Order: sequence, then structure tokens, then C-alpha cells
Amino acid sequence: MFGALFMSDLDKRWPSKRIPYVIDLTVKNESANLVGAVRASADYINRRTFVRLTEIQETDVEKEPGYVRVVLYSLIDQGMSFPCAAKQMGYHAAPPEHIIWVGGPGKSLKFCNQYDAASIVHEFLHAVGLRHEMGHKLRDAYIKIDEENLDKDGKYQFWAKADQKNEIREAETAGLPYDFTSIMHYPISALAKDPSKPSFVIVEPDGKIALDAIKAKEPAFQIGQHNCMSETDAGAVNLLYASAP
Ligand SMILES: [Zn+2]
Repeated sequence: MFGALFMSDLDKRWPSKRIPYVIDLTVKNESANLVGAVRASADYINRRTFVRLTEIQETDVEKEPGYVRVVLYSLIDQGMSFPCAAKQMGYHAAPPEHIIWVGGPGKSLKFCNQYDAASIVHEFLHAVGLRHEMGHKLRDAYIKIDEENLDKDGKYQFWAKADQKNEIREAETAGLPYDFTSIMHYPISALAKDPSKPSFVIVEPDGKIALDAIKAKEPAFQIGQHNCMSETDAGAVNLLYASAP
């Protein structure tokens, strides 16, 4: 039913739209600001969508069939198969713990001019069930990926993986348009072998028309640097969860 923007397995939606999360001691020991940014990010998603990210304490995790653990980025598992800084997408009862890593290098985007938290929102949204925007089935009408300039992570974990590409082609997007302003879109040099060159370029005409329309409203806009959830991001979460029990 859903795909591309959302995970395709609807059984992985969080029961009752409730997503418990526990802030790991590694984050609490790092800084009060980072803890504040995690809470602000969760509140921000809650205000804009049907889901409810709900903080729980360490002593309560065993009571939950599934929960998100927010861990300090420096402890990230380098061998994981899922890209980005989220271990999985959506709800899993076995194992119950879904890890996201926060507070990493280069993760200093200003979030709605208040919080240093855009990347935390991005990782929480993977836990909710969103994919990267570059997985949209209409992607090739908007961007062309330079597979020669993708590094190992880009090739094997991100957007050039052959079977994942086929899945993207098959998937539906519930009519949502491709969205350069998505907080789930990577920047133009993401995962490039040579970061002085882009890892993707804008395809004309669809991509250029879409980008020109955004820049007419927001001249300084840069792909993958958007600090807030877009309307489409909120819409994707709400479409995914609208019919959830
Ligand atoms: Zn991501």
C-alpha cells in the first residue's frame, strides 16, 4: 500500500500511535542541551502529527513491547545495515529496542531557529516509519545520482542498492509529490567520494521547475539543509498512521 516515503510494512506502525522513547545515560551525561533538544524534537513531531512520542524512564523499558533508545552518536554501530543514524524503521517487538544516535559531528543544523535538533527529528522520523525522500518513486524525474561519486555507504546503504531501487520503482507514494524541502532529503554532496562534487544533480525539467518554485519563496534554500519538517513530511506520517489502530 505505502512505500517510498513510508515503510511498506504497515504491521510496523507503532501500536496506538504511541512511541515510547528513553534517553540513554550516554546522552544525559553528554549535555543538558542535547537532552533538551531530544525532548524538543519529540514535542515538535507530536505537535505536527498524529503520533505521540512519549518519554519513558529506564526503569520502565521492560514494561514496553517496543521503544526507541536515544544514544550518543559517538557510540554508533558502524556495522549496521540500515543507513543514517537510525537502526531500523518502525515498530519491532523483537527485539523491542530501536536505537537512534544523536549529537554527532556536523549535526549542528539550527532547528526552527531555536534548537540544534534537525537531525534528531530526522532520526525520530525513521523510527516512526519514514524513509529518505530520495527513495521516492518519482526520484529520477527530479534528481540524477552520480553513482561513480558515491562512497561505499552511499552505494550499499543508501540509494544505489539494486534491490532497494526495484522496491522503490514498485512502491506507491500515496500521491505525495517529490519534496526537496523534506527533512528526510539528503544534501547535494551527501555520501560523495569527492565531497567537492555533488552526489546528485537536478534533472530538468521537473527538478528544476520544482526547485525554482521553492527558491522563489525562499531564495537561500539548499536541498537537504531544511531545518523543519515540511508539509509533506507531516502529511506522510499522518497518512501512514491515519488508518492505524
Ligand atoms: Zn536518514
